Amino acid sequence: MPRWQLLHRALLLLAALTVAGCSEPRPVRLAGAVMGTTWSVQLVGDVQPDLRPRIQARLDAIDARMTTYSATSELARFNASDSTQWVSVSGELVRVVAEALRIGELTGGAFNITAGPLVELWGFGAASAIDAPPAPQSVAAVRERVSLTHLAVRTTPAALRKTRPDVALDLSALAKGYAVDQVAALLENLGFRRYLVEVGGELRGRGRSARGEPWRIAVEQPAAGARRVQRAFPLRDLAVATSGDYRNFFELNGKRYSHAIDPRSGYPVAHGLASVTVLDPSAMSADAFATGLLVLGEEAGYAFALSHDIPALFVVREDSGYRERMTPRFSALTASS
Ligand code: ADP
Ligand code: MG
Repeated sequence: MPRWQLLHRALLLLAALTVAGCSEPRPVRLAGAVMGTTWSVQLVGDVQPDLRPRIQARLDAIDARMTTYSATSELARFNASDSTQWVSVSGELVRVVAEALRIGELTGGAFNITAGPLVELWGFGAASAIDAPPAPQSVAAVRERVSLTHLAVRTTPAALRKTRPDVALDLSALAKGYAVDQVAALLENLGFRRYLVEVGGELRGRGRSARGEPWRIAVEQPAAGARRVQRAFPLRDLAVATSGDYRNFFELNGKRYSHAIDPRSGYPVAHGLASVTVLDPSAMSADAFATGLLVLGEEAGYAFALSHDIPALFVVREDSGYRERMTPRFSALTASS
């Protein structure tokens, strides 16, 4: 056989192998750390070596803007400012704050990003933990600084404004969800349509896994220390976020203090609702609603989810174990077939 024919055959074989290689879905897992927690991305497709650093850079940029754990973040600088004039900030910060205000108003202030000073007072902020609950007078004084009416948002040009100098925002309850949405957007721009993105337990999925099935996710049993599955379900082109009182809390004299704080009372939530899981196309909104419903509690939270047609799963702690309650929309969206 002439040499060119051999070469031709070899090229054909190579082409055939490449086609076969492409039709075999390749599962890829990338991971890293951000926002004091971890992130991971599972996807199906051809991944360039620079994808992981690109995701990491995007996440680091969001953290650098929205964290309260660094005095130099954009949010920390707004918090530290005494100005009651418009302060120009990034369009990105305005988008997150605007969504937080929308959900804050919808939930009657149960979800409230102006709760920053209360989060600090109860030792869940950047400052160190506390060894005794704050005095009721301190709670009452700090609560004065917490209200959605103390904050205004302007889209163009992007700016935030406080009505009193001591207002401080905390975006921890929706920043992880926002980060998930941004990683999903980055993947979409690169042409990926089959992925599962996760930051600190908040997730967003699209398309099917390498096995050709919808992504399956699990909600943890809300027990401190234990890592048992409470409920597993398929995630079809949606985001899911869970807020619980079981990961981040402290106990003083046998009483559990959750890191979810009811801005209306100024005290950490102390009811039997152990966790709330919410589905939404946006991970940021799911994250905010999960925190808001947790603060509202089982009865008010469930009624709110029903009337606003929010797919939500409530896990209630009882002496005998855990009781689940889910809205009809949640059961419909997570049905197995
Ligand atoms: P996690 O960070 O465990 O996912 P959440 O999304 O529920 O939990 O966010 C809880 C964090 O949100 C708290 O640590 C605090 O910084 C902040 N926070 C606490 N109470 C509220 C509230 N009522 N509204 C908005 N943010 C809150
Ligand atoms: Mg949340």
